[in-house]
Amino acid sequence: MVNVKFEELKAKDHLPSPKGMALKIIQLTLKEDVTTQEIAHAIKTDPALSGRLIKMANVLMSYQTRPIVSITDAVMSLGLSIVRNMVLSLSLVEGSRDGACRKFDYQNFWSQSLLMAIAAKNFVEGRRMGAAEEMFILGLLGQVGSLGLATAYPQEYSLILEKAQAVDTNTTLIDLERTEFGLDHNQLSKEMLADWGLPQVFQIAVLHHENPALSDLAEGNRSWHILNTLHIASYFSKACLSHERQRHKMVQKLILSAARLGLEADVFTELGDKTVQEWREWSKLFGIHSTDIPLFKEILQAAPPTELEIFDIGTPGISLETCYALRILLVEDDYATTLVLKLLLTKAGHTVTTAGDGVEALSMLDKFMPQLIITDWHMPKMNGIEFCKALRYNELWRNIHVFVMMTQENSDRMEEIFEAGASDYLTKPVNSKVLGARLCVTQRMVQLQEELKVEHQQLRTIAAQLAASNQRLQQMALTDVLTELPNRRHANDYLEQQWAMAERSGRPLSCMIVDVDFFKKVNDTYGHKVGDDVLKQVAQILRSSARKQDMVCRFGGEEFLVICPDAQAEQAYQYAERLRQNVAAGNTHLNLIVTISVGVASKAPTLLNAEMLLQLADKHLFMAKEMGRNCTVGN
Ligand code: GH3
Ligand code: MG
Ligand code: MG
Ligand code: MG
Repeated sequence: MVNVKFEELKAKDHLPSPKGMALKIIQLTLKEDVTTQEIAHAIKTDPALSGRLIKMANVLMSYQTRPIVSITDAVMSLGLSIVRNMVLSLSLVEGSRDGACRKFDYQNFWSQSLLMAIAAKNFVEGRRMGAAEEMFILGLLGQVGSLGLATAYPQEYSLILEKAQAVDTNTTLIDLERTEFGLDHNQLSKEMLADWGLPQVFQIAVLHHENPALSDLAEGNRSWHILNTLHIASYFSKACLSHERQRHKMVQKLILSAARLGLEADVFTELGDKTVQEWREWSKLFGIHSTDIPLFKEILQAAPPTELEIFDIGTPGISLETCYALRILLVEDDYATTLVLKLLLTKAGHTVTTAGDGVEALSMLDKFMPQLIITDWHMPKMNGIEFCKALRYNELWRNIHVFVMMTQENSDRMEEIFEAGASDYLTKPVNSKVLGARLCVTQRMVQLQEELKVEHQQLRTIAAQLAASNQRLQQMALTDVLTELPNRRHANDYLEQQWAMAERSGRPLSCMIVDVDFFKKVNDTYGHKVGDDVLKQVAQILRSSARKQDMVCRFGGEEFLVICPDAQAEQAYQYAERLRQNVAAGNTHLNLIVTISVGVASKAPTLLNAEMLLQLADKHLFMAKEMGRNCTVGN
């Protein structure tokens, strides 16, 4: 449909097109076997065109130290296709300074196209995305479809422009154009460029430059960059030529769109001012009017971009499918890039906090506890590499994932990033698909890390419980169940220990074996249960009658062992007597009279080990029993 419509217009010769010598030159360049001399010769036959072409070539090639002085020189330096497109542009401007469409401002059209051309040239200059000279021509012809409609349908287009102005939105203009003519100005631009033999990348760029979101180009490739650069150049030219209030708003958006392309705010404002200045000089070359525009820094100072503003710029989001929401700290000194990246990450469901440099970022770590840090390389105070090193120096922050953003220029210094301890890198301008993929990996790793942390915590809890229960078991293994006194095993260990200590220190050590008298009778008379109660009571009396440092143990049956560190024979005898008397005086169960016999033994040179000490105590106990019970026998 669009194509048919275009063919109709072309057949009627209703479209702006190069005429005369320019047409001949363009046709000549399409010949396969054309030589530089032939082209140069043809151009030279039109002195006015030759003069303009040399001037234009010099301005475009201003980075060359040697000026271009002849047409042959221009063709040699710029190449055939660029010269051809320059001839095309110059002849179009020349042939369409005025026309019959009343509401179409021809002067303003070329003024804006020239501004767009210089902007497009400057926004790619110094970057690897496309030849600046080609971008200039693309900018200049980017809106040529509007001129085409004004030329083909002067009356009808005048009415449409009037209607559209009343509503004042571009969509309405496009709708009106499509309804009235069967194609809109962008579609016509594309067809005209195709007809002139300009490459397809350029055709796509002009078709979608007012709304790049409609193209299906893959983010980050060359075509995508050309399209988006043209978009920004177009928006830039519109912003410059708008009224002050409108301009403020447009510049805010412009700064953010430029950041998406990797043009940081400072660089962009500088390029903006340079573009305006060049535009004013170039206007003279083309014989086009230009106006005064304040410096971009001033415009931005009056109205800096805000976070809300950014939601309009049509930034593509990141797939939410694999999203495990992360706490992300974004460290970036350029505020436009910060805003754009923050939007991308927030849209993907992450929690984002920002810092302007490494020093600020370090001060925020403890509070925010990020799981991922995305940091710029070049920043004031502390750059990304220094920040990374400082981060890894601290034990607490070693596990945080860190992406360092690098520019095309320092892509050959990648090993520095990894040496500093980064987990990964991102190339500026950050491609949202690449970022999405990297985030996906990080999300998985963070998720695993968190799960491990939980497992680790659970293991620690289990280990603590095990330790406690082990302690309990050990306690139980060393305690007598009935009397709750240390049992025989515990007693033996303790006695061995005390013996060794006494050996080393030369300090005294005594022990006593206590045996309940006629205990069998208690059992026989009152039963086993009462026997148990009596044993418990005797145990209590012994415990409370002994010194604190003495260990009272149940040695077996109705026998107890009392270990008395630091006690000599006489003292031990006195202690034993105290125990015996307290038991005898104790108000025992059922008012039974319970007595004990005690055999005391104290460490002496004749005794070689703890075993012998026990044997001696046992011997003295036997003697006490022999002596009639309820008495004490010692050394
Ligand atoms: P002696 O004055 O000569 O020591 O006489 P005795 O009857 O106390 O000594 P014997 O060794 O003949 O008897 C000890 C009794 O202690 C035998 C046993 O049934 C009883 N016995 C040992 N352990 C326990 C216990 O845990 N509970 C109860 N109720 N009786 C126990
Ligand atoms: Mg930076
Ligand atoms: Mg006994
Ligand atoms: Mg007994």
